Amino acid sequence: MSLISAKDILEDANKKRYAVGAFNINNMEFLQAIFEAAQSENSPIIIAASEGAIKYAGAEMLVAMTRTLAQNSKLPVALHLDHGSNLNAVLIAIKAGFTSVMIDASHFPYEENLKITKQIVNICHPLGISVEAELGRLKGVEDNISVAERDAVLVNPTEAKDFVGSSGIDFLAPAIGTSHGAFKFKGEPKLDFERLKKVKELTGIPLVLHGASSVPEEASKKFEEFGGNLKGAKGVPFEVLKEAIKCGINKVNTDTDLRIAFLAKIRESVALDKSQIDPRKIFGPAKEYVVEVIKERMKVLGSSGRA
Ligand SMILES: [Zn+2]
Repeated sequence: MSLISAKDILEDANKKRYAVGAFNINNMEFLQAIFEAAQSENSPIIIAASEGAIKYAGAEMLVAMTRTLAQNSKLPVALHLDHGSNLNAVLIAIKAGFTSVMIDASHFPYEENLKITKQIVNICHPLGISVEAELGRLKGVEDNISVAERDAVLVNPTEAKDFVGSSGIDFLAPAIGTSHGAFKFKGEPKLDFERLKKVKELTGIPLVLHGASSVPEEASKKFEEFGGNLKGAKGVPFEVLKEAIKCGINKVNTDTDLRIAFLAKIRESVALDKSQIDPRKIFGPAKEYVVEVIKERMKVLGSSGRA
């Protein structure tokens, strides 16, 4: 199939209350792993590429690889720019053939965020490209902070309603207490589900959870068994993801988990086969290990069997 917009994929998820993983690609093997897992799970696919990935591989290369795999598949596939930081980054992606973009102007004051986001919507919608924006800051929130501090960091539901109505975005990433990377929480993960429910109630559109990696236990153990150090990294447990989906999340971003799995297997292969000089013998098993992590996540998110 040709690439479609992420909106086309997420509308069904919104209606039927499940989530689709947006898996970040770091290289060709990640992309192959996502397709292999989705094929086996019969899941729709959202490929996410950050500006970092575009800098590493080139936007045209990422589009060409994704299109080739999509054309050989019957699954719905969208290619999404993750955290586009400005107009130029978005233009590079859509010129190359991305079918969905995120504009992340959440670090600007509300009005500025809205203005920049509207501009992106006006460019993307006539081209059939879906747009995601973010409100609030992606930052872990401690239990003991004041309500005012909490409100300063997390999404404001009333603002979210106004933002969605005024900008015309297709899906929204509301900050509810997760953060990026492997080190999300000092204590137990506490997400603000009440706030999330309110945002869903007031906007009705698909919502996105960033900073949603789970730091899978087996892969993390392997990573450390073969010399790595994750320094006590802690992700979002599956039960918490399921609860977030119940409250309105339809797109769950995942990057860190795939990175940990890929490098855990590489560490193992390199340590156990010291004379190996064929990179494919090292990267191949690492890719297969990533496939397993993605399949498990597709089951948890509920995208299995939805293609
Ligand atoms: Zn993110």
